[in-house]
Amino acid sequence: MAKNNNDKLYAKNDVIEVTITDIGNDGEGIGKIDGYTLFIKDAVIGDVVRAKIMKAKKNYAYAHLEEVITPSKHRVVPACNIAKQCGGCQLQFMSYERQLQFKQDKVRNNIVRLGGFDPEEIDSIMEPIIGMDDPFEYRNKAQFPVGTDKNGKIITGFYAGHSHNIIPGTDCKIGVKENKEILETIISYMERNHVSAYDEETGKGLVRHVLIRKGFTSGEIMVCLIINYRGKSSSSKSGVQEYLPNQGELIEKLSAIKGMTSISIDINTEKTNVIMGLEVHTIWGRDTIRDTLCGLEFNISPLSFYQVNPVQATKLYDQAIEYAGLTGNETVWDLYCGIGTITLAMSKKAGKVFGVEIIPQAIDDAKQNAVQNGVTNAEFYVGKAEEVLPQKYQEEGIYADVICIDPPRKGCDIAALDTMLKMAPKRIVYVSCDSATLARDLRILCDGGYKLERVRACDMFPMSVHVETVVLLTRTKGTTSEGK
Ligand code: SAH
Repeated sequence: MAKNNNDKLYAKNDVIEVTITDIGNDGEGIGKIDGYTLFIKDAVIGDVVRAKIMKAKKNYAYAHLEEVITPSKHRVVPACNIAKQCGGCQLQFMSYERQLQFKQDKVRNNIVRLGGFDPEEIDSIMEPIIGMDDPFEYRNKAQFPVGTDKNGKIITGFYAGHSHNIIPGTDCKIGVKENKEILETIISYMERNHVSAYDEETGKGLVRHVLIRKGFTSGEIMVCLIINYRGKSSSSKSGVQEYLPNQGELIEKLSAIKGMTSISIDINTEKTNVIMGLEVHTIWGRDTIRDTLCGLEFNISPLSFYQVNPVQATKLYDQAIEYAGLTGNETVWDLYCGIGTITLAMSKKAGKVFGVEIIPQAIDDAKQNAVQNGVTNAEFYVGKAEEVLPQKYQEEGIYADVICIDPPRKGCDIAALDTMLKMAPKRIVYVSCDSATLARDLRILCDGGYKLERVRACDMFPMSVHVETVVLLTRTKGTTSEGK
């Protein structure tokens, strides 16, 4: 039982009526009754709803949406019929315009609250979020889990929110149209050849996930089956390694799909949430697919990171390049560089560029991408940013005019931030996919002598709660490496 300010008791299974006045970080609707807070998934800001309390605490409760009594002007009919169950999109019930406002506010509030920045200062420098004209079919990559339903039928789709239950569905509205045909081809091959799906509980079964990637400009498609393969591969007559029963049938069917360029197997025998293992074997076609971004052609391997929304990535990178303020002579370090997208895009306007990335295959791609695009002023290093940068700084006294960073969600390691402060570049461009860790790191950089100059959110992931941000920091204090 929980008490609110008016001593009213709320308990599990109570049904309440409430107006939704705010949006939580996970996209859920938030309403208040006499100071008691209710979190209601799929309720949209402005809705009046009836909801049933599932879990009641002293000051707040989680409730299940039972009925929308008066719909909000921001409520829309979702494009996808499994939007409610599927954990992929959290905001499909909200108009795209309101989604953009939510993301702008999320970035602003995280920087203010978690970074301890002055709200007026942030409001004066923050630029309007970069949205999409058409916020569907934007993802060039999807990873579909494969499993078995209670009747033993092979299924694929998406995990439900906060769970590993597969919601069957092959027709994702934010993904490419080809996903459906590819997945149906794989499922029917598995059924015909009695190929088992992996079972997370027992660790048994073969096929775990299907990764599909498409180069939007090239039209090239990559399919990678992630399998729990413990045997030794045998060589078929044609010399192709066999990892799957009757593998030739699968290859024949998949390779007939328009655009198919690369079919591979990734081996993952670990009992882990990490989707891909480190061992990849191409079983048909090329090892990589190509795509064009910012006028450069990129090769992408199954294991390499590549932005999932190329239309928005172009806008994001253009903004990052503008923030970098390059005039042609600068030395630029691009940390967490992936396959060298930002590094190479900046190379055209800089004197010398250096990229650092932890995944060796991504650096192989980056080097090849440099050669392919005729870039001769780029160098790449494999390793952790927090190890490579301090080591190079101590041993070689490396210097930068501009440092660009684009870390994963957990943000930058303190050793990388410390070295950046020692290197004292004139400008730091921070590209972030998590505004909470961004805010934390901005505080460290600003306490170390930098000023927040410009902030801009970019909607790379319409319909989901995620948002990308690009920030420009400029040095305010003097430096030891000036004039090198
Ligand atoms: N800038 C690139 C990649 C950004 S994603 C692009 O826009 O395409 C973040 C990248 O950081 C991934 O490629 C990931 O493999 C890499 N990474 C993760 N931890 C790292 C670390 N500690 N040091 C260096 N790179 C890391």
